[in-house]
Amino acid sequence: MQFFIDLHTHTIASDHAYSTIVECVNYAKNNGIVMFATTDHGPALEDGPHPWHFNNLKVVPRICDGVAVLRGIEANIDQNGDIDVTKAQLDKVLDIVLAGFHPSNPPSDADAHTKMYLKVIESGNVDVISHPGCAAYPCDYEQVLLAAKEHNVAIEINSSSDVNTRFGSHDNCVEIAKLAKKIGNTIAVGSDAHICYYMCNFEPSIEIIKNAGISEDQIINTSPNRVLDFLESRGHRPIPEMREFFKNK
Ligand SMILES: [Zn+2]
Ligand SMILES: [Zn+2]
Repeated sequence: MQFFIDLHTHTIASDHAYSTIVECVNYAKNNGIVMFATTDHGPALEDGPHPWHFNNLKVVPRICDGVAVLRGIEANIDQNGDIDVTKAQLDKVLDIVLAGFHPSNPPSDADAHTKMYLKVIESGNVDVISHPGCAAYPCDYEQVLLAAKEHNVAIEINSSSDVNTRFGSHDNCVEIAKLAKKIGNTIAVGSDAHICYYMCNFEPSIEIIKNAGISEDQIINTSPNRVLDFLESRGHRPIPEMREFFKNK
């Protein structure tokens, strides 16, 4: 299993990440990565960028130096199960919206986290739930994954969880992968790279995916057109420049 698309990456717009978007593009270009989503943290996180960062993502070319760049965000789920993304950003700029729990929302209990996830999933505004295995934010995985399946929201298997961050979440990710296989969830694989050198470094996720018996056709980032199909199925505007670029791929 090999993927050359990364749906979860950060740039220096998030203070605790260390590469510019151009460095990410260059790394991608030199390492056979054909597409990535730039998904900096939403403004509610202490070191997330100002909202204007997301408003202005429209200046990022569709294809940068031969690499397709999706304009994204990793939003923060708050206590009310809402996210820190404006309607205008959703309607006019963002190609892909990830959302997950971060320290801007201090952990509560599994029941409360489950309710917040369900509200986010049912909102229709989030395409991918990022790092649901996070040990600090336990939830009822089965309920969350069933809702995600019903609402066509992808579940991320995050390659940084228990490797670079979120220690103690490995067993949760294994459980989520097994449930995702059983329920038939759409899976997104994300490196969660906070420096370009980690882009598409998916070994930890692939191990979990293989052990769970998840097949490639359950995973969106196995081909650029599959990613674009998924995003359109979620109601995002088509991106003709990328369709043209990935014609026959
Ligand atoms: Zn995150
Ligand atoms: Zn992230």
